[in-house]
Formats: sequence, C-alpha cells, structure tokens
Amino acid sequence: MSVLSASLLHLQTEVLEAIARGESLASTLGLLCRRAEAMAPGTTCTILAVEAPGILHTIASPGLPASFSKAINGRPIGPNVGSCGTAAWRNEPVLVTDIEHDPLWQDYKALAIPLGLKACWSTPIPNRDGGVAATFAFYFKEPRGPNELERLIVQTSVHLCSIAIEHEEARATNHRLAYFDTLTGVPNRLHFNGLLQQQIASGTPFGLLLADIDQLKTINDTMGHAAGDAVIRTIAERIHASDPALTACRLAGDEFAIIVPACTSAGELEATAGKVLSKVNGLLLAAGYSVEPHITVGGALFDAATQDADTLCQNADFALYHAKETNRGGYVPFTRDLRTAIVNRINMVRDVGQAIADERMLPHYQPIVRLDTGDIVGLEALARMRRPDGRIASAAEFHEAFSDPRIAYQLTGQMLSQVAKDIRLWLDAGIHFQHVGINVTTGDFERGDLEERLVRTFGAVGVPLRHVLLEVNEAVFVGGSDNRIPKSVDALRKRGLLVALDDFGTGFASLTHLLSFPVDVIKIDKSFIDRLTTSAPSSVIVGAVLDIARKLNMRVVAEGVETAEQVDKLRELGCSLGQGYLFGRPCSAAETMILLQNFAQQLPEAGSEQRRA
Ligand code: GH3
Ligand code: MG
Repeated sequence: MSVLSASLLHLQTEVLEAIARGESLASTLGLLCRRAEAMAPGTTCTILAVEAPGILHTIASPGLPASFSKAINGRPIGPNVGSCGTAAWRNEPVLVTDIEHDPLWQDYKALAIPLGLKACWSTPIPNRDGGVAATFAFYFKEPRGPNELERLIVQTSVHLCSIAIEHEEARATNHRLAYFDTLTGVPNRLHFNGLLQQQIASGTPFGLLLADIDQLKTINDTMGHAAGDAVIRTIAERIHASDPALTACRLAGDEFAIIVPACTSAGELEATAGKVLSKVNGLLLAAGYSVEPHITVGGALFDAATQDADTLCQNADFALYHAKETNRGGYVPFTRDLRTAIVNRINMVRDVGQAIADERMLPHYQPIVRLDTGDIVGLEALARMRRPDGRIASAAEFHEAFSDPRIAYQLTGQMLSQVAKDIRLWLDAGIHFQHVGINVTTGDFERGDLEERLVRTFGAVGVPLRHVLLEVNEAVFVGGSDNRIPKSVDALRKRGLLVALDDFGTGFASLTHLLSFPVDVIKIDKSFIDRLTTSAPSSVIVGAVLDIARKLNMRVVAEGVETAEQVDKLRELGCSLGQGYLFGRPCSAAETMILLQNFAQQLPEAGSEQRRA
C-alpha cells in the first residue's frame, strides 16, 4: 500500500471511529478538517452546512478564527456567494483560484484576504435527495487550484462528511421520536420527566399544571378520530401560545403537563392556569367540524423542602382529578385536604371494585309500610358491602366510590341480578309483595342500555318487571340535557316498570316536571319529614305534594320516618305510606323473607298481580 493510500485509510478510520463513538457532528468534522490540513500543508478546511431554506452555517473550521464563521453564518446561498455559497447554489464544485479578483468573491473577499486566503475550492456534499447538505472547502495560501493529493483528500472527505451528516440526521430523528410526541410535536412524557428533573435541579421555584381535555371521547365518537386528533393538536398549540415561556408536554392521550418556571405562589399559578384556560377556549375547525374545546386544569407548587418529582406530579394529578369532579372547564389548586380525601376515595373505589369482582356487594332491604296498618307493601334495596372479614359495611362507608361512573354502573348490574334472584325466591315461597325499589344513577342512563339490562336480568329468572320500582334521584331526573332521562323513564314505564322520584325536595325537580313526565311514586326526602312536627313550612310543602300527587294519581312515600308523632302528622296530611327506622332498618334478604312472611300486606287477590296499596 502506498503512503498516500495508507494516510487516506487512516483518515477514514479515524473519522468513522469518531462517528461510531457518538461524538458530535462538529467534533467529528473538526477532526476531519485538522487531519486533511495536516495531509495537505498550506491548506485550511471549512465545512458549512446548508440549512433549509438555503442558509449557510459553519459546522467546522478549526483553522480559521471564530469571526470568520460568525460572518458566514446565516448567509443565504446564491449565484455569487464566494466559493461555498455558489457551489451549494449550483450543486457542483466551484474553484476560485484568485479570491481577490474573482467576481464570485466580490462581496466576501474582505473576510478572506486579511487571513492570507488567496484561493478556495469548494465541493458540495450531497444529501439523500440529491440536494446539497453541506460544502467542503479547501482554502489555499497561494492563488492556485488543487493538486492531485488534494483532489484525493477532498474526494475521501466529501464521502466521510456525507456519512457523518446522515448519521447525525438519523440520530436527530431518533431523538425526536424518543422525546417528542408525533401528533403535536411537543415534548412527550419521557422528555417531560427529564425537563422536570432539570427544573428541580435548578433550585428555582416553579409550579406544575396538568390539563386534560374534556369530553374527547365524545368528540371522537361523534365527529371521528381525525377531529379528536385536530383538537389535541390545536390545544397543544394554544397552550404554547398562551405564554411561550411555558413548556407544554403531552403526557398521555388527552393530558398535558405544563411546567411554570419562576412561580412562587398559589396566586401566580392560578393566574397562569387562567391564562391557559382562556387561550384554549374558542371555536376551532376539526376535520370539517366546528368544535368548542374545553380543558380542565389542576395545579401544584413545587416545595423543595418536602417533595420530589413524583409527589409533585401526584399532587397536581389529585387537583386535576378533583377539578374534573367539581369544576370542569376550570382550575383547582392542590391542597393537603384534597390529598386525604382523594386517597380515601381511590381506596374506596379500589375496595368496592374488588367487592364487585368478588360478588361481595349485596342488597339489604328496607320495608315500605302502610301507615294505617303497618303492613309491608314494598321494599327498597340498599347496597351493602361484605368486607373480607365478613362485616357488613353500610353505604355511608363506601358511597363516595359511586362517583366513579364505572363502579356505579357495575354496582347497578350486581344489584339488579341479586334483587332479581331474591324476588324469585320470595315469589316461589308464595309471599305477597308488590315491588322492590332499586336506585339507578346518571351513568346507568347514559350508557343507553338500562332498559335492555333490566329486561335481560329480570327475564332470566322470570320475574315480571312490575315488581321493579326504579328509584331515580331528583338530581338525576332533571340533570341530563334535552329531558333525556325523563324520556327514558317514560319508555321504562311503558315496559311495565314502576318509577319513583327519589329524594324529592332536595334538588330542582319541580312539580311541573311531573306534568310532562309522570312517575308512579314520589318519595319525599327525610329532611322534610325531620322537620314535619316542628316547622310549619315543612308540613305545608308535604301537604301540597300529597295534594298534587293525589290529583296526578301518584303515590307518595315519606322517607326517614322515625317517630310516632311524624306518623300521626303524615296521616293527618293524607299520606298513607312511609319508610324509616320506626318501621324497620335495612336487613338481609333472609331476614326480609321472614318479615314479609309475617307482615306483608295481605291482598284480596293473588298478591303478585296486585299493583297498588
Ligand atoms: P373527560 O371529560 O372526563 O376528560 O373524558 P374524556 O372523554 O376526555 O376521556 P378521558 O380523558 O377519560 O380519556 C381520554 C380519551 O381521549 C380516551 C380516548 O378516547 C381519547 N384519546 C386518547 N388519545 C387519543 C388520540 O391520540 N387521538 C384521539 N383522537 N383521541 C385520543
Ligand atoms: Mg379527557
């Protein structure tokens, strides 16, 4: 092998090793320049990148002062921009043997001549698409062209530059894919973790906001996934636009984290959240649909004394969770109480979820009686949980778990099938009774399959639906939009089910609702019964409800009856049915069977056919 070939091979090996070691592009190409200059004495090398849209930027020029690079950087390529700018423009090598007099250097020679650079030969480095990625230039200290050795060096160097630049691009692409979200272009969770650690390490105060898009599933379901994607993208842009100092990261599906630097107080964090919330609002066009997007935001301040990244994220998450429940479309800051309340609820949701999976949720039954005879005319099924140690927990111990719609829905399912089995047992034992009340929630209506579930569950054990009394809380009854729930209630009644308006008087259901959407039973809330014997307005209200119900052919049940005085007052007002501790506490299905055998209303005809008290 000739000395020349050996030197070129050595150059090549050194540069390829630098690439393989993962050195930066500037360092690798700096090494290439220095080795090339050493092989061809009297030359100086520069490698300039051609960045979109045709702007020059120095990657390496170790033999020239920084002022030279500074003067070149940012200049656009063109038909007469020295040797490199012109070579990139023409996409072919440009040899200028006399910088001082060549028109291509007219505007640039003042940079070169003071440095003793007399000639320049620049060769384009191709990119994958056949364009120019960079230029490799040899400057000479005399007005001349390249010799054979220099031609060989350039040939090898251009090839090596090409490899190094492609490698760098691949690395940048991998980095982008690993650290940035492809849909929005904002940092992803991995990157967020790094940014958060950096922020903590900086030792300066900051806050964290977590934002979750409201009702994205509905947008996907009604307008398509492309519309959902457009909403996510636009919200990312709008968060960034609300304050360019904020870094919004996409943590998951529709959740963003926003690091708020230099934030020292809850008030500042709230102000930033307000800015983000107002910027996100406003119609946007998503896949041809007009959408008014909303987000809900939770926030927490970083406390360097007591916290790490995980605690901060968890606190902000608690705040977001709470915001979703109490202030959708708004902001909730983290407070210590929130943590206790939410941890309790999360534990409760987990316990109840497990109890549902183990079939440890069961109904207990509280009798509804005739106030004149004390006969049991119906029952209300109330959910109880059998704890792993066998103790029966009352609803008060776990009712918060029902704020999770999934749990509420599953519980209804388990209650329906248990109640259906119990009714079957009582009917088979020849017990007279009319109906069992079952509580249903908004979630049960929203799924749109309540009617089908009822028909299927009670049909499976051959229990006629007239034995079922659906108890719909007043807030649920009027809570939906477009009277959707009253309309479903209407459809259920047509199926033969009875419907009770539960907790009447606590919400916003007015008697006018009952004119458009009648129910079979109105259950007056305990709060009115409690005050019945002490407060005149309470007895006036109860009297009025009874009067109207009678005219509309609806029955009224007084809930929470605890004293004989209340019974007297209710009877005086014309109320014939009651439920409460005075008559019986909720008890198990087996105990209820004994109660029914002894105290169920004896009806003149076949008990189960009779519908009215
Ligand atoms: P909420 O108002 O309670 O936030 O409910 P939501 O409908 O926004 O649903 P949630 O936040 O619980 O879950 C996020 C949903 O976002 C789940 C999924 O349907 C949707 N989603 C997640 N990632 C993407 C995505 O990349 N594109 C689209 N179009 N939708 C996504
Ligand atoms: Mg959401």
